[in-house]
Amino acid sequence: MPSYVIPDKCDGCKALDKTACQHICPNDLMVLNKEIEKAYNRDVAMCWECYNCVKICPVQAIEMRGYADFVPLGATVTPMRGSDAIMWTVKFRNGTLKRFKFPIRTTPEGAAVPDGGWETGTENLGDPTLFSEPGSLGLDAVQTLK
Ligand code: SF4
Ligand code: SF4
Repeated sequence: MPSYVIPDKCDGCKALDKTACQHICPNDLMVLNKEIEKAYNRDVAMCWECYNCVKICPVQAIEMRGYADFVPLGATVTPMRGSDAIMWTVKFRNGTLKRFKFPIRTTPEGAAVPDGGWETGTENLGDPTLFSEPGSLGLDAVQTLK
């Protein structure tokens, strides 16, 4: 089941030009109805249930089924992000609530190095090797087909 917006909770990100869910969706599925300032998923068949919009919504207005490998059928899962952890609230069909908190960072906020320290640059995007290669393989060069 794809993501769906609970209209009563969505505040349209207070009418910002681009809402948080629009910004984060890798499939460009979320749309804001500016007349009522509510977002919606415009093509549910294209939603791959990545949970990005669910996690980024600042008012927990987006829901989606929980994957069967961590909650039973019918349970809802609602995330609450903090700066260093995310709290998942699971509501089971019988009304039982459980909360799980997980750390989400291995570096302080704002301290991540975009290139991972490999300093390979972006000038050679057509190169067939991976971004961190050959350094991550401990090699001077990777053999590729010419
Ligand atoms: S991120 Fe949440 S509050 Fe903002 S527009 Fe999307 S559903 Fe609504
Ligand atoms: S779950 Fe992922 S693919 Fe689906 S609408 Fe949200 S961000 Fe887009």
